[in-house]
Amino acid sequence: MTFSHGLSETAKEGSCHLNHPSQRVDLKNLSPQELKQFITSFGKETYRCVQMLRWLYREGVHTIDEMTNLSKKFRQELKEVSTISSLRPLRVEEAKDGTKKFLFELEDGNHIESVLIPDKSRLTLCISTQVGCALGCRFCLTGKQGLKRNLVVSEILNQILGARETLKDGPSITNIVLMGMGEPLANYDNTVKAIELMVHPEAFKFSSRRVTLSTAGLLPELERLSKEKVSFRLAISLNASDEKTRNYLMPVNRRYPLKELLDVCHAFPLRRRTRITFEYVLLEGINDTLQDARTLLKLLRGIPSKINLIPLNEASEIPFKRPSDEKVRKFQEILMGGGVTAIVRASKGADISAACGQLQGKSSEFGVGSSEEKP
Ligand code: SAH
Ligand code: SF4
Repeated sequence: MTFSHGLSETAKEGSCHLNHPSQRVDLKNLSPQELKQFITSFGKETYRCVQMLRWLYREGVHTIDEMTNLSKKFRQELKEVSTISSLRPLRVEEAKDGTKKFLFELEDGNHIESVLIPDKSRLTLCISTQVGCALGCRFCLTGKQGLKRNLVVSEILNQILGARETLKDGPSITNIVLMGMGEPLANYDNTVKAIELMVHPEAFKFSSRRVTLSTAGLLPELERLSKEKVSFRLAISLNASDEKTRNYLMPVNRRYPLKELLDVCHAFPLRRRTRITFEYVLLEGINDTLQDARTLLKLLRGIPSKINLIPLNEASEIPFKRPSDEKVRKFQEILMGGGVTAIVRASKGADISAACGQLQGKSSEFGVGSSEEKP
């Protein structure tokens, strides 16, 4: 990417979208490498990049003027061609178990949700990568909406900053999971750039072991991902142990069948001591038999893996039921008996529709627009 007068075509695209009618680049849409190039196009030293990354992501500034270790003249030059976007939650809802759901309104009026989940020493933020999702899994409310659009890098990152601001002196966010609205790999470039900033030592500085991308299994993108330098944890939404059931539950399986998905997982380069997490939503009478559990064991043989069992979070629009706790326990026992770590994921935040698959970015139910509804 080349910058002329401090602007690039890709950066302009991102900023056009966010800062219409202005043509200024949103600094949070630039990868660390792009930010460096942007700064050098002003004739500035590259260490300024480190300073700016710290201001943007550690300090979380909202304006260029707040970057006080940059000269006034440079700040003025920056302001002429660039800007800093932010997102403040329109509404924060807290569940009985302490889970919080954030509703964010984007520049174009679309809405997205993020969920903050406290669990022992961890505080995990689940973030969205798209408005809606095109993949239409039958058990997922986000899938029911269809796809509205991809999020740009700044919109992905601003969920972290927006949620973090509400915590003030409280506990810090320790983990990020890309398991909110959308399919991260269908928004490949923006997702990977955002992850680069999450793990960059001068930006958010999350350990790569604490950032997890979850995908329904877009194979060309998974293969591309396997060659990326940036590292993070990978989760695959499996949800069935045979092609027929997966075809039915996840239409994406007709394009990228289970067998090919597992072949890619076998070949996926993993860092030492890391495993792929396989997510398996349990649906009564559909994929929850003990035979399913045994087949699953066979399928995953040879892949360093752990399994997250997620008993379905029910909703009136979803035509399935969650299996009994007893059934879930037996399914788990078979997997554990086969030597695989299998964890039953508690459905946190279900009373505020913040659990897996319940995110819809719905503004109407919150009465958005009425000022007394805002925090
Ligand atoms: N699109 C990505 C990430 C978002 S979905 C993916 O599919 O992996 C995140 C997780 O929520 C997936 O594992 C999905 O299987 C799960 N999920 C979706 N709807 C659910 C529901 N109603 N109950 C429980 N889990 C659900
Ligand atoms: Fe999309 Fe994931 Fe929901 Fe499937 S489960 S519709 S891939 S968000």
